[in-house]
Amino acid sequence: MKNFALLLKHNRTKIYYAVVTILLLLLFSWTVITSIPMIITVEGFSNTIGRWFMFVLLIVGDVGILSWQYVRWRQTESILRLIRHLQRMADENSDGIIDWRADYAPKTQALINVSNQIAKNTRQIREEERQSERSKDEMITNISHDLRTPLTAIIGYLGLVEMNADVLSPAERAKYIHTAYDKSNQMKVLVEDLFAFSQTQAHDAVLNMTTLSLGDLFAQLLASYEIEAQEKKIELTQITNPETIMLEADSDKLARVLMNLITNAMKYGEGATFVKLTAQVKDKTVEIRVVNDGAKIPSKDIVDIFGRFYRVESSRNSKTGGTGLGLAIVKGIIEQHQGSVFATSDDDLTSFIVTMPLKQH
Ligand code: ADP
Repeated sequence: MKNFALLLKHNRTKIYYAVVTILLLLLFSWTVITSIPMIITVEGFSNTIGRWFMFVLLIVGDVGILSWQYVRWRQTESILRLIRHLQRMADENSDGIIDWRADYAPKTQALINVSNQIAKNTRQIREEERQSERSKDEMITNISHDLRTPLTAIIGYLGLVEMNADVLSPAERAKYIHTAYDKSNQMKVLVEDLFAFSQTQAHDAVLNMTTLSLGDLFAQLLASYEIEAQEKKIELTQITNPETIMLEADSDKLARVLMNLITNAMKYGEGATFVKLTAQVKDKTVEIRVVNDGAKIPSKDIVDIFGRFYRVESSRNSKTGGTGLGLAIVKGIIEQHQGSVFATSDDDLTSFIVTMPLKQH
């Protein structure tokens, strides 16, 4: 009894379709057989032709009913199978792909396609979340390391001064305090860069928009590099085309972008003889370039340099300082202005090319 109940439960659709099919076959056959006397009365139908006609009609009709019922059964089965599959996925909170097809049931197949698309999107979102978690962890490790190094030095040097107060000469004391001061400044730069970087990552960051003259901004910024440029024998120039370009932007943030790029050009363009700022209006956008000659950026690093904490091997090993956040801040700010930035570098020139709309919407 129990087995029969189970059989009934699992094969409910099969039994339903089998019963309906048998009933339909019987009904059809009965209709055809009972209509034979009427057919043979039609002129031109002899008894034999009538019987053959009935026979063919029975075969064709029964095969038709069987095929039609079979397809309907497969369609119902496929939708039930899909429901069970989706229920299992929902229970297991899985984002698996449904790997069977229901070509004979186009509507079920359409549902499978939609479900697979949702699963794919969910997978992608989960992967992005995992990636973001990983890079957050990585960032915390980087920050801790970069803060700990100068902090250890500061504590070390100040400890020397504190513990050897009686034996240190004034010159030694001054040297240790000076080193601690240098390291504190290094920490300050990192904390400021971190703050600026985190601001570029905030989705709800507010830009303080003003309309500014790019030529004036260039001149103002280049003036602050004049002394350093003279010392390094680097010529600073600017060209704007047309001469007056009015641009809608957060002036402090745009100034930060240009300062990061100019500082990098002066710092890393080893052997550079010039740093040039250009701006050219193209349709409704402006293309700003910060160009220098001197040492080139290796092509394997040219894309990665915009990543946070990324520094080219030679810079990591040199004493140029830097946090590896400068270009990540540039990219973040430019993207906040609906723009984009990329770099090119060869033996002759290194260019940072910023494109942004003249007006923000
Ligand atoms: P940081 O200056 O703190 O190292 P950045 O993000 O500003 O970090 O720059 C990343 C790296 O890109 C630098 O370490 C440097 O090697 C390279 N770089 C940036 N600008 C230039 C440039 N104009 N010429 C050569 N190398 C550059």
